[in-house]
Amino acid sequence: MTRSAAKEALKKYFGYDTFRPMQAEIIERISQGKDTLVLMPTGGGKSVCYQIPAITLPGTTVVVSPLISLMKDQVEGLLATGARAAFLNSSLDDVEQRRVEDQFFNGELDLLYVSPEKLVSQNFMPLLKRATVNLFAIDEAHCISSWGHDFRPEYTQMRFLKGEFKDIPVIALTATADKLTRKDIISQLHLKEPKTFIASFDRPNLSLEVRPGQKRREQIIRFIQKRPKQPGIIYCLSRRSTEELAEKLRGAGIDAAHYHAGMNADERTKVQEDFINDNTPVICATVAFGMGIDKSNVRWVIHYNLPKNIESYYQEIGRAGRDGADADTLLFYSYQDVMVLEDILKKNESDMLDVKIAKLDRMRQYAEAVGCRRRILLSYFSEDVQQDCGNCDICKNPPKAFNGTVIAQKALSAIYRLRQSVGMGTVIDVLRGSGKKEILERGYHNLKTYGAGRDIPFLEWQHYLLQLLNYGYIEIAHDQHGAVKLTPASQRVLFENESVQLVRFATIKERQEVEKARAKQTAKPQRVRDELFEKLRQLRKQLAQERGVPPYIVFNDATLEEMAATRPMTDEEMKNINGVGERKLQLYGSYFIDAIIEYVGPSSSHGKASTYQVTYEMYQRGLSVEEIARKRQINLATIYSHLAILYEQGYDIALEEMVSPAEVDKVLKSLRYLQEPYKLKDIYDYLGEQLPYHRIRLALAYGKREETGG
Ligand code: ADP
Ligand code: ZN
Repeated sequence: MTRSAAKEALKKYFGYDTFRPMQAEIIERISQGKDTLVLMPTGGGKSVCYQIPAITLPGTTVVVSPLISLMKDQVEGLLATGARAAFLNSSLDDVEQRRVEDQFFNGELDLLYVSPEKLVSQNFMPLLKRATVNLFAIDEAHCISSWGHDFRPEYTQMRFLKGEFKDIPVIALTATADKLTRKDIISQLHLKEPKTFIASFDRPNLSLEVRPGQKRREQIIRFIQKRPKQPGIIYCLSRRSTEELAEKLRGAGIDAAHYHAGMNADERTKVQEDFINDNTPVICATVAFGMGIDKSNVRWVIHYNLPKNIESYYQEIGRAGRDGADADTLLFYSYQDVMVLEDILKKNESDMLDVKIAKLDRMRQYAEAVGCRRRILLSYFSEDVQQDCGNCDICKNPPKAFNGTVIAQKALSAIYRLRQSVGMGTVIDVLRGSGKKEILERGYHNLKTYGAGRDIPFLEWQHYLLQLLNYGYIEIAHDQHGAVKLTPASQRVLFENESVQLVRFATIKERQEVEKARAKQTAKPQRVRDELFEKLRQLRKQLAQERGVPPYIVFNDATLEEMAATRPMTDEEMKNINGVGERKLQLYGSYFIDAIIEYVGPSSSHGKASTYQVTYEMYQRGLSVEEIARKRQINLATIYSHLAILYEQGYDIALEEMVSPAEVDKVLKSLRYLQEPYKLKDIYDYLGEQLPYHRIRLALAYGKREETGG
């Protein structure tokens, strides 16, 4: 498969013009038959990496996916693009299973989704061997590793793949895998000379915010009221609190349901489907919710409690905004939450308790951070980010910083001289020239940096080191007793004199005050989504209902936003919208085109229509003609002519405020003495150069509407 064939398929089936970073390289590798490991955030576009080869290469791609409901969703989404896909899992009866197996055997499928149990089962093997498989895609590959947080024992049995099918490439994909898990995936699946692709984990469309966990319910109600009709999830720690919160929200007039593993299967399915189909916008859930759904238009996620580690947190907020459109996330934090989580860990987790506690601690540090939160998240995933994001609460309301380069250099050089082998406490002891027995015993007092930071108290050092950690200047090796390690970024500070900004210790208190004040203010203003967007959203829902699929399978929010903004009115224009492939154009294009034309008004030409619409929208918001002209940087006469045309078309314009009945009368009478087509200049001259042009124009509009009976 050539690159251009891959690109064509991307356009034809998915309606996208360009690959995201790495997608094209990954697809190329697969078509060369090579094994690959892909790390991309949720919503990053992993599926496309195997779906394009699946569609374009001869044979079937077998996709292993751990969650049955996710499979159904993926298959529905693929069928909507015109690809040939099916799934095999325990939810099908024998007849259905047989039908899919026949399709697979006969080469009638581009993609076959199977559960891990199915893949490793004895009775599936003969079929697998006889069918033509072009690729094995292992989704959620971190489930193979006991280091990961969703360990699934069935996954470990998949090591037979590379033994039995030597020439068929394997692609393993995951959104969450630290270094250890990555190593584990590669070795357990026996990947052959694998190449690992790590996409940026940045999800710039997600806003990040942390608030103190006080009066959470009131805060949540305000937050939701600012986002009417937008689907969102609130994660709670306990089953009981999901129920209580949902009830409280309903009491405030918010349409909310709860979800947790203690409900029976039917109830759970119902809640899930209502959410997917945009019937219930708000779900209060334990973290069990969301694993099995692929809803791309979740517009916000709230954490009622602190998650137990950054991986979980990032995965959970990652369920918002998968369509690439803006989405908001809010985390409530209190120290109490940390204690509760620590207790839970100590009670239930004997395995690697230290690591788990350390991970919780990183989560706490994130919540308490004084630097750009996105940088903290990304550096946790070992990404070296050099700029603040501008889309987190800290960036929007920054605490005061100072040049901490010298402090950073002292710390980093101490870590270097300690051979990156000791924990944070020892680093600080050495910096402060501590006379502790173990420091002296190990001979650390002979190091050059011993005592170099005597002037700074222990707690303050801790505060600075945490910042260095949060900014990615150092790392903690959890599998080496928490030893502090240097990173490429620390090299720049040590050897290239890169300057480091730190936040003053004393300002933490100040910052808390500011936060308190801010929490009192109301939340962020509502995202402006225009009337047309809402109309298209309704249409989407109706079409989805008729076809029995979730609305986002028809088109996702980002696609609707683009339609609302650019207003395509022909097939050609519609094809240029991201997310409109051939099949969807065929199925849905005309409905959306009709809706747009109806909204904009049939008589206007396209380009003009939107500029009139903009004028009309501003006019409706109560702006004066002068204000509209100034804001749009268009001259006054043009705005008047917009209003005249809008009035002619039957829009609600208070013409009488701009031109008097006597003036209208004069203009209309003058027409009797003039030649058609009437020119404004002729009327102007005829009326003795008295009446300004714009009023003549408005008077004509009045006449025209009278004439057509509008
Ligand atoms: P993941 O499997 O990594 O969670 P998906 O493959 O579901 O992510 O993709 C997330 C969203 O991004 C989907 O709506 C998908 O259609 C869209 N997408 C994927 N690749 C591209 C691309 N090259 N251009 C535009 N949108 C894309
Ligand atoms: Zn930021």
